[in-house]
Amino acid sequence: MIQRTLVLIKPDGVMRGLVGEVIKRFEDKGLKIIGLKMVCIDKEFAAKHYTKDIAKRRGENVRKNLLDYITEGPVVAMVIEGVDAVNVVRIVTGDTEPSKAMPGTIRGDFTHHSFHYADGKEMSIKNIIHASANAEEAEKEILLWFSIEELYSYKKADEIFHYGK
Ligand code: ADP
Repeated sequence: MIQRTLVLIKPDGVMRGLVGEVIKRFEDKGLKIIGLKMVCIDKEFAAKHYTKDIAKRRGENVRKNLLDYITEGPVVAMVIEGVDAVNVVRIVTGDTEPSKAMPGTIRGDFTHHSFHYADGKEMSIKNIIHASANAEEAEKEILLWFSIEELYSYKKADEIFHYGK
């Protein structure tokens, strides 16, 4: 099934100059970028993205640190489309905890910290990107970050040349 999902290059990814690298990983995989922008969000907007659900799953402190982290600098937001895109993007992204993320994934190749280390420093774990966890979350997050006018419909070259119309 063709799906859409939201990816954010978090402030650490932008500050480390990994924007091109991250986008390349998704393009190499054959996924289609249908929306893309750089934005600075405030705490109010961040709280809509990282809702109370995250506090239930990970704890209040993790959410508080996460709101600081995601508002630390500009974020690159994109909507990615492809076959089973939600799951495929999560696989390319890698495990939430960098120390467990497999080499070959974005988090596995560019980060290594553990939850234990981050929690000891009272900071969020810096893992370069956010990717929607499931189809329902993807729908909500795309609506939050993008207007309909900011999403584009087009054919990638491989869709035209290899698969026909
Ligand atoms: P994911 O981003 O892989 O979907 P979650 O939604 O569970 O993972 O968590 C959101 C973000 O919160 C993570 O990407 C990470 O930056 C941060 N985070 C989660 N758990 C912890 C933790 N125990 N300590 C520090 N940061 C955490």
